[in-house]
Amino acid sequence: MTANVHSIFTGGTVDGPGIRYVLFLKGCPLRCLYCHNPDTQSFDDGKKMTTEEIVEDVLKYKGYFKTGGGITVSGGEPLCQIDFLIDLFKNLKKYNIHTCVDTSGVVFDKTNKKLLNKFDELIKYTDLFLLDIKHIDNEEHIKLTSKPNTNILDFARYLSDNNKKMWIRHVLVPTITLNDEYLIRTKDFVKTLQSVEKIEVLPYHTMGVVKYQNLGLDYKLKNINPPTKEEVRHAKYLLGVIKDAA
Ligand code: SF4
Repeated sequence: MTANVHSIFTGGTVDGPGIRYVLFLKGCPLRCLYCHNPDTQSFDDGKKMTTEEIVEDVLKYKGYFKTGGGITVSGGEPLCQIDFLIDLFKNLKKYNIHTCVDTSGVVFDKTNKKLLNKFDELIKYTDLFLLDIKHIDNEEHIKLTSKPNTNILDFARYLSDNNKKMWIRHVLVPTITLNDEYLIRTKDFVKTLQSVEKIEVLPYHTMGVVKYQNLGLDYKLKNINPPTKEEVRHAKYLLGVIKDAA
């Protein structure tokens, strides 16, 4: 099968365990205000690569995966290319490579039986999902990303019901997600899930702003600064990541 690829980063250490081969696919249905990879959002202009080409390339880095690493497919939204993902992971599993998907889960749809069969197939070959819960409140989620969070929360439930390991990721944005009520609601939702291995708090940063300038796009969060260390600590406490509030 063929994928529409944005880029490849070898030596990733922040997208899953160990040292990872990170494959960024093109295209995303969301428009997160803080997206630091706006150049991955369009479904056009990617590099076409086959499963065989990528498997061959990944295998060159197998030695690094002894750190507990493997491949992470990110984006964009990698689940938009689910047929390719199934094919890629099925092939990589022949070589015992650890497989991970970094996703918003937005393309999940529990009412679509045909799609559900594909998800069932994908989770057979996926060791770990990094699932972004962008905002726990649906109205705020729409304002932040342009789409509701219903499918995302359904996807978390589906992974939990299938006892599939996931790391929940939550971007902490002052005035948007840095809010006690929302953080507590997020924790309460995550507590209902069975297979969450950890919650990662990702402090909002402004490193992608220059990409907006290069693309001629307006960056809507220009007046928001990254959270302070104390704010990150407070959020981690409310999310149950750390036990000590001080
Ligand atoms: S889901 Fe990721 S790639 Fe898509 S708009 Fe949001 S931050 Fe950007």
